[in-house]
Amino acid sequence: MSRNDECVQVIVRCRPLFGKELAEGRQRIVEMDTSRGEVVLKNPKASHPSEAERKFTFDRIFDWNCTQREVYDGAAARIVDAAIEGYNGTVFCYGQTGTGKTHTMEGKDEPPELRGVIPSAFNHVFDAIDGSEGRNYLIRASFLEIYNENVRDLLAKDQSKTCDLKEDPDKGVYVKDLTSFVVKGVGEINNVLKVGKKNRSVGATLMNADSSRSHSIFTITVECSQRRAGDPPDAEPHITVGKLNLVDLAGSERQAKTGSTGDRLKEATKINLSLSTLGNVISALVDGKSSHIPYRDSKLTRLLQDSLGGNTKTVMIANLGPADYNFDETMSTLRYANRAK
Ligand code: ADP
Ligand code: MG
Repeated sequence: MSRNDECVQVIVRCRPLFGKELAEGRQRIVEMDTSRGEVVLKNPKASHPSEAERKFTFDRIFDWNCTQREVYDGAAARIVDAAIEGYNGTVFCYGQTGTGKTHTMEGKDEPPELRGVIPSAFNHVFDAIDGSEGRNYLIRASFLEIYNENVRDLLAKDQSKTCDLKEDPDKGVYVKDLTSFVVKGVGEINNVLKVGKKNRSVGATLMNADSSRSHSIFTITVECSQRRAGDPPDAEPHITVGKLNLVDLAGSERQAKTGSTGDRLKEATKINLSLSTLGNVISALVDGKSSHIPYRDSKLTRLLQDSLGGNTKTVMIANLGPADYNFDETMSTLRYANRAK
């Protein structure tokens, strides 16, 4: 396995058919062989046997029977471990609106089995800290969204402002004046998530916007200071900082279908720009031969530059809907994911 295979992992998750889809008698056109990592997409409109189905293979896939815990353990846990060890990492959920990105990232509070990657990561981080000896940890949380290529601080007191991206030779790219809370435990960091989610939906209503069109990034920074055995008593402690980005991407659906015009079309172009740039960045990283990685082409990739590629870990969870009427979007998500692996 090459270094790049380890640095970017692509995972596919398909949700079950909804109640409404079942009631309408929709057909499931996705087949999955989880032990082989194979996804077969059947074309409900195929006019020729050669178009009847297309097979894709991925590192790991999750079908409609999988639990939130299995997804966490199989997709996110090693990225969270890496952040605790002082490395940067990112978990993305990609896919058409309604395929389970937010279910995967946030899930439901109750019952606890339905909790998604973000709250499970909270427990994971604080459990690891509680079980550690001889180390001091400082955990910080921030939460932002990128809407229309504007960055909004979801924890700011004033929700009407947008934030600028700055670049610093030492710090790299960062969001100017981004709120960041020091959190002492799971309760506190859950509150941060709750406040940000509320601001996100209030902001969306005020702007007459749709949160499925914005990218949200919840970032946990894990700072660890440690004195090593054998260090002289007056030695400076050894400090590591790991950053974990948990990203719920905007819906990947093609906007032509919804017949957008004017502002909506402009917005759609910007969403597609961030998603296509992200695809280009990841495929350049995976390819490993490109001398140019186009981080600068979108806010999302600029912001995540220090957590994508190099000495970092990335997992992309591509979410699918199984129903026949989503064939085109499902094919497009599988192609995107296939290119990223
Ligand atoms: P997205 O964020 O991609 O738009 P959601 O996460 O909001 O999609 O999911 C759409 C609906 O499908 C929600 O009602 C959600 O609870 C349900 N859902 C998504 N994935 C699953 C799953 N794996 N199992 C059960 N229900 C799911
Ligand atoms: Mg969502």
